[in-house]
Amino acid sequence: MARKIGSRYTAHQILGRGSAGTVWLGDGPDGPVAIKLLREDLASDQELVGRFVQERSALLSLDHPRVVGVRDLVVDGNDLALVMELVRGTDLRTRLDRERRMAPEAAVAVVADVADALAAAHAAGIVHRDVKPENVLLDMQGPLGPGGSHPALLTDFGVAKLIDSPRRTRTASKIIGTPDYLAPEIIEGLPPRASVDIYALATVLYELLAGFTPFGGGHPGAVLRRHVTETVVPLPGIPDELWQLIVQCLAKAPASRLRASELSARLRDQLPMLAGMPPLDVDEPDDEDEPQRQTAAPYPDETAVHPTAPGAGAPGRRRGAVPLVPGAAPDSNRDTHTSMRVPGPDELAGGAHGTARVPRSTAERRPGSARHKSTSDAVRRRRLKLGVAAVVLAAAVGVGGWLATSGGDADAPPQDTQQSSP
Ligand code: ADP
Repeated sequence: MARKIGSRYTAHQILGRGSAGTVWLGDGPDGPVAIKLLREDLASDQELVGRFVQERSALLSLDHPRVVGVRDLVVDGNDLALVMELVRGTDLRTRLDRERRMAPEAAVAVVADVADALAAAHAAGIVHRDVKPENVLLDMQGPLGPGGSHPALLTDFGVAKLIDSPRRTRTASKIIGTPDYLAPEIIEGLPPRASVDIYALATVLYELLAGFTPFGGGHPGAVLRRHVTETVVPLPGIPDELWQLIVQCLAKAPASRLRASELSARLRDQLPMLAGMPPLDVDEPDDEDEPQRQTAAPYPDETAVHPTAPGAGAPGRRRGAVPLVPGAAPDSNRDTHTSMRVPGPDELAGGAHGTARVPRSTAERRPGSARHKSTSDAVRRRRLKLGVAAVVLAAAVGVGGWLATSGGDADAPPQDTQQSSP
């Protein structure tokens, strides 16, 4: 079924559905294109349409081989569409769902490509804000790289920011960003700078290697709290140099993280030593388990750890699949989301979603496993719930502050695409 988009483009068939809209295979004056038709509720928002037009030149100007180019922006009646370069392949989430974990060499090659894309964007003053496997496309027609990896391209630049207008987020009580990949400073209410993309990309690298994200799982409030308070311990079998890179880019203090160009260079330096290495042997966390984490030292000093401090999670969860509203059905056909409701105080306090856990110390851990068991100690759990509730409430207050100030900080590039907007 063909559909006209503006006067120049025709959409022919659906390639996939995302949280912001539907992506179509189409064609235009210069050949085949991918057309992202934004959701109706977004397209009918006059403020968003205005921002969309304002973003136009920033999005169109980003031209880099590792960035999915935006060719045009179309506002036509009820249609609001981004016309993009067509990538013939699949997204990284689909590959990860199929393989569960990638061999380190291929994972590092893919992430280095995305770091290149971010380096170009950051140099142009653009922050992506929604780096996640869904937004990395693998070009199956491109030449094979290290570890048999296909060239990776980063897509959806500017979309998170477009959808994230202060008015929308305040009235809808939502924040933008996928909780598993949100940098702690965003949760604490600071404006998103380039370093939030580095944090998200390090999370993606961890996920490609482990099969699950370092801080995901359970109630979104618990995910937010972990970003702020917990650190990870090494994945079994991971080369130390690679682990140090991940740790540095997952630093709570944004200034401690590497810049995108540096990250790319250091990842590529490691490729030869990763050649032929099989995927890491990491157990998938289940209802009873979660990845080994430790409570972070007081921000921003990140050297000390408290191995017996509690983690928090919820039963019945899957890594990377976070129900954003308790009991709600997924809001897209994918397991991750770009729109998250801020939990209410009662939800944050625990209830059905707030089961506190106490990680096993490193000494108790099974050899070769990144998992640890929960405890059933009722007294300790009650005490931990109170602590978790307090920390998560603080995080929610921080998110509220961010909502109120999410217009960006025009004084301190690299920033996002909203530098010129009100
Ligand atoms: P999400 O909101 O989850 O990031 P998108 O809306 O960006 O998802 O994309 C939905 C689907 O469309 C994905 O499966 C992706 O593979 C496909 N897709 C997105 N952009 C392109 C493109 N430029 N070329 C080819 N396929 C694309």
